[in-house]
Amino acid sequence: MEKIQNYIGGKLIPPISGAYFDNYEPAKGKVYSQIPDSEYSDIDLAVKASQKAFPIWSIMEKQKRSDILLKLADLILKNADQLALEESRDNGKPLKLAKQVDIPRAESNIRFFASAILHFASESHSMENTAINYTLRQPIGIVGAISPWNLPLYLFTWKIAPALAAGNCVIAKPSEITPYTAYSLSKLCKEAGLPDGVLNIVHGHGSKVGEAISKHPEIKVISFTGGTQTGARIASIAAPMFKKLSLELGGKNPNIIFDDCDFDEMLKVTMRSSFANQGQICLCGSRILIQKGIYEAFKKAFVERTKQLRIGDPMNEKTNIGAVVSEIHMNKILSYVELAKEEGGKILSGGNRVILEGENKNGWFLEPTIIEGLDNSCRTNQEEIFGPVVTLQSFETEAEALSLANGTEYGLSSTLWTSDLKRAHRMAQNLHSGIVWINCWLVRDLRTPFGGTKNSGVGREGGFEALQFFTEAKNVCIYL
Ligand code: NAD
Repeated sequence: MEKIQNYIGGKLIPPISGAYFDNYEPAKGKVYSQIPDSEYSDIDLAVKASQKAFPIWSIMEKQKRSDILLKLADLILKNADQLALEESRDNGKPLKLAKQVDIPRAESNIRFFASAILHFASESHSMENTAINYTLRQPIGIVGAISPWNLPLYLFTWKIAPALAAGNCVIAKPSEITPYTAYSLSKLCKEAGLPDGVLNIVHGHGSKVGEAISKHPEIKVISFTGGTQTGARIASIAAPMFKKLSLELGGKNPNIIFDDCDFDEMLKVTMRSSFANQGQICLCGSRILIQKGIYEAFKKAFVERTKQLRIGDPMNEKTNIGAVVSEIHMNKILSYVELAKEEGGKILSGGNRVILEGENKNGWFLEPTIIEGLDNSCRTNQEEIFGPVVTLQSFETEAEALSLANGTEYGLSSTLWTSDLKRAHRMAQNLHSGIVWINCWLVRDLRTPFGGTKNSGVGREGGFEALQFFTEAKNVCIYL
């Protein structure tokens, strides 16, 4: 069976312990490869490789760094079909989605930051006749990047691209649940001519490799995307060491639908914002808030459309809903459906595991699920489920919608459907979230600040914000 390898100092190598653990194919519920069970010593080896590479990479002309990253983006494009197949197999997502979203976005993340670094400038502050200050923005050193399983290569590259473009060396840990495309990327890095040790990819469990990244004194910056509890754990280790931290965490996003919206467009997009990637996108709108006047019409149309979604083999082009990522995660989602029933929720559609035939008979498939009749304060409406499960709640006034929307500990994104321009601006100002989509969802411009408020995170990714995060500002003051 294939053994995934770590990528350290430019070489593909086994973990120091020689130990591996199983990697599953969610659509078949079957082991198909082996993952290095790395430890602190592997991270330490990667740190040494990064320390050797940093003096070369950090002073390399930006144009040269950019050229190497552009070559890497070209190689992702050249291998896009193969990478999409790998992503779909490793994660359970429909191949069509990996082809249309995950892999193109991984390519554009790298291409974007390879270009952005050439346009990244710093400020100067003049004190009239006394002095002039200018700011240097310098690479920091060794960056730790820890990413989740839901959009594996997409989120992995979203971190490593700005960190590398800014001149840092990176030690990256993909999720142990979906390690495969990061492994493939390590082979492409060699082909692109990335100097040895500039990027190191160390595979393994969060409790070992992730913790080692948090604890290692030579890793000065950590960029993390994942669950809120894990973010808190990383912060508890890294903050007292004064590491720079960017935390992109969970969400419980509202999708607010007013009577005056464009109903057809709203319905079409709400299908995606509810169930794309089996609902396993941090930005999915899992709490649907509908104004009373169209509640019944929405409910009927939404349930009808949801029942038409095809659950099936991710490799089949006609599949809308693939497998969820693991058996543990499937059981967690199902336990939330049970909880919703105990809390008095009514299941309007779905709620069950789906057993397919043939090769997929042991796969982890779930029906897309719609629940109504719960108030905002119950656990189902407060905790992140991260699966194909949404709840419906109705509201009458704008104030009520706002109070429901803001009534959780999370604040990642909000979606708003209305044709009243003034209301749209008013709501956008008052929603407690880092991102507000009006009459759309998941429309992304890579230059914009990306991140959450409240328990959804600290800091912003994207555009120059990311390049600022991955550089240290130094003020130089010249007395005139
Ligand atoms: P997770 O927190 O379990 O794992 C994320 C990563 O952290 C993995 O690589 C894991 O191995 C590692 N990890 C686990 N324990 C660790 C520890 N003690 N120290 C250091 N690293 C550790 O999250 P997940 O289940 O992989 O992903 C789902 C979560 O990610 C959801 O909460 C989702 O909302 C969130 N997410 C957020 C965003 C965003 O941009 N805000 C994007 C995608 C996913």
